[in-house]
Amino acid sequence: MAFSEPSSPIRPTTAHIIGGGLSGLCAALRLAERGIGVHIHEASPHWGGRCRSWHDTQLNAEIDNGNHLLLGANRRLLALVRTLGAEQRFHHLRPASFPFLDVQRLRRWQLRPRGLLSLFTGAALPPGATLPGFALAALRLSRASESATVADIFPVRDALYQRLIAPFCRSALNTQPEAASARLLANSFRALLTHRSSAEAWIPTLSWRDALIDPLLARLHELGVTLTTRRRLETLTITSGRATHLAFNDLSATLTPETSVILATPPWEARRLLPEVVPELSYSPIANLHFKPDEAFPVDAPRFIGLVNGAAEWVFRRENLASVTISAAHAFTHDSPEALAGRVWGEVCHALGHIAPLPAHRVIMETRATFAATPETLRLRPSSATPFSNLFLAGDYTATGLPACLEGAVISGESAAALCA
Ligand SMILES: Cc1cc2nc3c(=O)[nH]c(=O)nc-3n(C[C@H](O)[C@H](O)[C@H](O)COP(=O)(O)OP(=O)(O)OC[C@H]3O[C@@H](n4cnc5c(N)ncnc54)[C@H](O)[C@@H]3O)c2cc1C
Repeated sequence: MAFSEPSSPIRPTTAHIIGGGLSGLCAALRLAERGIGVHIHEASPHWGGRCRSWHDTQLNAEIDNGNHLLLGANRRLLALVRTLGAEQRFHHLRPASFPFLDVQRLRRWQLRPRGLLSLFTGAALPPGATLPGFALAALRLSRASESATVADIFPVRDALYQRLIAPFCRSALNTQPEAASARLLANSFRALLTHRSSAEAWIPTLSWRDALIDPLLARLHELGVTLTTRRRLETLTITSGRATHLAFNDLSATLTPETSVILATPPWEARRLLPEVVPELSYSPIANLHFKPDEAFPVDAPRFIGLVNGAAEWVFRRENLASVTISAAHAFTHDSPEALAGRVWGEVCHALGHIAPLPAHRVIMETRATFAATPETLRLRPSSATPFSNLFLAGDYTATGLPACLEGAVISGESAAALCA
């Protein structure tokens, strides 16, 4: 079977998008809005890639593969949500304040980042940290060299480092401070503090599938995009400087000169298909744990809370589902799911004020959740353009200037679409 290329003047060109994660879906949206005929081919049975959700039969609940927080600083992602009319599918956390708990000392505090003012008012400071210390940290970060790690520029492990810099580094960059790029951390802090609204936060009411992926798929259907799951690209043929042939598990397509291809797979798969362009990157794991107790959590328990000095880092609460994220989770990859769940549940009980025996739970360990945001990896990130005239890259690993994240996936998809002639 071969694709027939449309000859209608309304759709002068065709694009094949390989991968139905957020970067591929965004690229498809932007191309289809321009009247280009788009086919998306997704290898797995589901859409959304690392941002997928599913109904877990053991928990009888919809769960996300990864807990993601939508921030005001994620401008392109937020714009997408608004374009899709999907804002009402999120809880908007007002006021934008972030509760924290030190699980060793059982001390609680709130951070209220309010743009650049936070640098002067201390609203973004944890207990034990001082304004001069914060100003000095900001200065050090802003002057960090390209090769410096976060740990390199913070030799003193004070309260500011333990309770703000290191946890923020692990969650924003999914990399331990000893390996993480100080430059990239500086960019992330800057994005969060630039505008008063940057630290506003949204959490999906039900799941990321419901809040973003389904509305995006609905719009793509409306625009006439062909969406196919369980179709894996096996090989990509390059001839005379352009992509000429796609061989999938169930069909093959010979490409006309007017046809473009956007490779929107994860980086390891892009490297398998295009080793001369996509470098070998290193990866970092994230653990997500979901707990469903029989009784609902107290209604005044926080919807979202950060933990320090424990295993869990962020706890997201829905009606009677608590979901926990542990970034840069190397220390836990060899733990049994039961042992990890038992330890983390104790911390969740403290965080949400809900003491109960370990309930039904699900542990998801993604060993290649994102690339490791080290100075070396950042130097290797490829741009969306390739040496081949009709072939482009999309994905969180491309050179977006951001850590691996949903915002980066949106930016990369839109950039790749803009490059398609
Ligand atoms: C556990 C976890 C927690 C996270 N937490 C956050 C967070 O809090 N905030 C944040 O912003 N980001 C977070 N991220 C990162 C975020 O999910 C990713 O950056 C983003 O989803 C990447 O999108 P993508 O389109 O680049 O890649 P992917 O989502 O990986 O999509 C690639 C798609 O390509 C498909 N594919 C692969 N090979 C082929 C092939 N040969 N043929 C066809 N299709 C193929 C895959 O099945 C997949 O669907 C988290 C990630 C994980 C795993």
